[in-house]
Amino acid sequence: MNKKYRKTIIAGNWKMNLLPSEVKPFTEELRSSMPRVKTCETVLCVPFTHISALRRALKDNRIAVGAQDVSTYEKGAYTGEIAGDMLNDLGVRYCIVGHSERREYHGEDNFTVGRKALAALENGIHPIICVGETLEQRERGITMEHISCQLISALSFIPDDKVRQCVIAYEPIWAIGTGKTATPEEAQEVCSFIRRIMRERYGARLARSVSILYGGSMKSSNAKELLSMPDIDGGLIGGASLKPNEFIQIIDAVAQVTGEER
Ligand code: PEP
Repeated sequence: MNKKYRKTIIAGNWKMNLLPSEVKPFTEELRSSMPRVKTCETVLCVPFTHISALRRALKDNRIAVGAQDVSTYEKGAYTGEIAGDMLNDLGVRYCIVGHSERREYHGEDNFTVGRKALAALENGIHPIICVGETLEQRERGITMEHISCQLISALSFIPDDKVRQCVIAYEPIWAIGTGKTATPEEAQEVCSFIRRIMRERYGARLARSVSILYGGSMKSSNAKELLSMPDIDGGLIGGASLKPNEFIQIIDAVAQVTGEER
C-alpha cells in the first residue's frame, strides 16, 4: 500500500525517566544534529511535569509535544488526574493511550483505553493507541485475535469522523524494553492485519491514511529494516529515545527509507 497518503511518525516515549531540568540540554543536543526530514513527524512523549519545559525548549514546530496518558474525566474531583483540555492548553499534540505498562500496572482495560482515546480527540490531541500481545498469547497462536479485540474495543468509543486522527501503535509486550525486537516480517504481519481491520470497518481511504507504528526495542541498528516494511509507518520508541544520538539515527533511517535529502 502506498505510504504517501500517511505520515511517518517517530515518537519517543520517555516513560518515567529524566528530570525536567534535563529537558533543555537534551533538546539542544537533539535539535543541533537532528536531520530535517519533511515526511517525518517527530514527537516526544514526556512526563506531565516536563511538558512546559519541553514546549519552551523546542521554540519551533520541528518536534511535537506528546503526553503519556490522559484522564477519562473532563474535570472535577479526580485527585491526581490530568484532563485533555489541560494538555491541549500546554500545546500537547499527541498522547499515548493504552500502553502495556498502564494496562499492566494501572489495571487499564480496553474500555478505559477507548475512553482515554476519545478524551484526547475531544481536545484536539491525536491518541497513539497501543495494542500488543504477550509472549504467551503469541505462542498460543492467538496474537491476531487479541490485537483485534483490543483495537475494535478502543475504536468503538470513537465517532467515525474522528478515527482518521488516531495513530495505532503495535507493541508486542515481549519486545518492550527487553532488547528483543519483532522481526520486520513479524511486525509487518500484525501492522498489515491492523490496516485490514481499519479497511473493513472504515473503508480503503481511511485505512491507507492511518499511521501504524511499531514499538518494541526499536533502535538505530534495526530501524531501517522495520521502517522499510509497507505497513509500518514509524516507531514508538522507549529506551532509544532517551539517547539523542540514537533517536537522531532513527529519524535518519526514515530519510534513508524515503530517499529524502537531509
Ligand atoms: C515503549 O515504551 O513503548 C517501547 C517500545 O519501549 P522500548 O523501545 O524500550 O522497547
